[in-house]
Amino acid sequence: MSTTILEPQTEAGMTGKTQQLMPVKNITVIGAGTMGNGICHVFAQFGYQVSMLDINQDAMNKAIVTIGKNMDRQISKGALTEQQKDEALARIATYTDMKEAVKDADLVVEAATENIDLKIRIFKELDMLSPEKTILATNTSSISITRIASNTKRMSKVIGMHFMNPVPVMRLVEIINGYGTDRMTTDTIIDLSKAIGKVPCVVNDYPGFISNRILMPMINEAILALQEGVANVEEIDTIMKLGMAHPMGPLQLADFIGLDTCYSIMNVLHMGFGNQKYAPATLLANMVQAGFLGVKSGEGFYKHVPGSKELIVSERFKNRMF
Ligand code: NAD
Repeated sequence: MSTTILEPQTEAGMTGKTQQLMPVKNITVIGAGTMGNGICHVFAQFGYQVSMLDINQDAMNKAIVTIGKNMDRQISKGALTEQQKDEALARIATYTDMKEAVKDADLVVEAATENIDLKIRIFKELDMLSPEKTILATNTSSISITRIASNTKRMSKVIGMHFMNPVPVMRLVEIINGYGTDRMTTDTIIDLSKAIGKVPCVVNDYPGFISNRILMPMINEAILALQEGVANVEEIDTIMKLGMAHPMGPLQLADFIGLDTCYSIMNVLHMGFGNQKYAPATLLANMVQAGFLGVKSGEGFYKHVPGSKELIVSERFKNRMF
């Protein structure tokens, strides 16, 4: 009997019945941003027919260019051939019309902007326009899967499929079961994640799931320590890198994720658990208000010069102007 986290005990396993999986061939990805392009990349690379949909045609054009460049990097490392790249790119079609994009979908993975009202609107539309059998997954980092699912008439077929950034490189897929998600949906997504070379971990639908419930309070704590003057930016990040073998310090990581995203996830944890220990640091709130968002705005805890990998602490923190 399997008891590992990667092979959760399925009903089929317990009763000795054959595992029921929904066949997946055609996948629609909603949103062609940072995550959407990576998700399209891996599905196309592993032989799935991909329909990419965004409201912004430019975003899709950029996404196709990014996928091509990232595949070139795989080719230079011997992980892909030119022919496999061409075949993979040929499997991706782009759409701006949802009805067209989802008409043959076995699975939809939504990776649009992190906004609850937007996601609810998209899922209502997906529920109306996609075939009854279609599984509807979301790549949300923090929004309740159960809440999204409750806006559809197919709660049992709605699930979280949370990829990590950058998708072609990171092996984890955090699979989140909503309250009403059925076994076949979960098993299908576990199977699909393995088929694209990922390692699936199944969790339940509580604020922040597992990844962000643990990561974000660590980042927030680092910001609180900085705010209280316990140590400087470099010391905090160096202690966590060298002392805990983290590849990147929490403040540098916050800059990469985007401070606005960190702030919004802390708010989800704070509201969801109603516990003061998740209150976002005032310094984090101030930086977001002032538009110091990290890499995406050019400055957060560090200054980010395009094309440079040098770590330069922001002048504000050198001069304690916060
Ligand atoms: P992004 O801003 O890079 O891309 C979002 C895309 O969604 C944009 O291209 C936008 O045009 C498109 N979009 C907006 N409204 C749309 C609509 N109605 N229909 C179709 N497309 C629409 O965002 P991202 O960083 O790729 O994040 C996408 C999702 O993935 C979010 O839910 C986020 O929480 C989650 N996520 C992000 C990361 C990360 O590191 N960036 C990691 C894991 C999960």
